Amino acid sequence: VNARGPATLECREVVKLVTEYLEATLPPEDRARLEQHLLVCPPCTMHVAQVRATVSHLSQLRTSSEVGPALVELFRKWKEKRDDEDA
Ligand SMILES: [Zn+2]
Repeated sequence: VNARGPATLECREVVKLVTEYLEATLPPEDRARLEQHLLVCPPCTMHVAQVRATVSHLSQLRTSSEVGPALVELFRKWKEKRDDEDA
């Protein structure tokens, strides 16, 4: 599979890029491809919304140094869930 497909990213790439996407540090080309993927992939749309809400929530309560580990935990739970669905 060519990772550089013409239209959209794969789910794993969305997970990898979601923080950059939410921080608006993603290159425009990748951002467009990510948004294209979200249009056709409800699970990733939910994931992005959940991460956005978590970042917003944590940023109100805690220092930014604690947001990273929380996101890692969120990714791990999400990935475990996805792996279960694949099995
Ligand atoms: Zn997806």
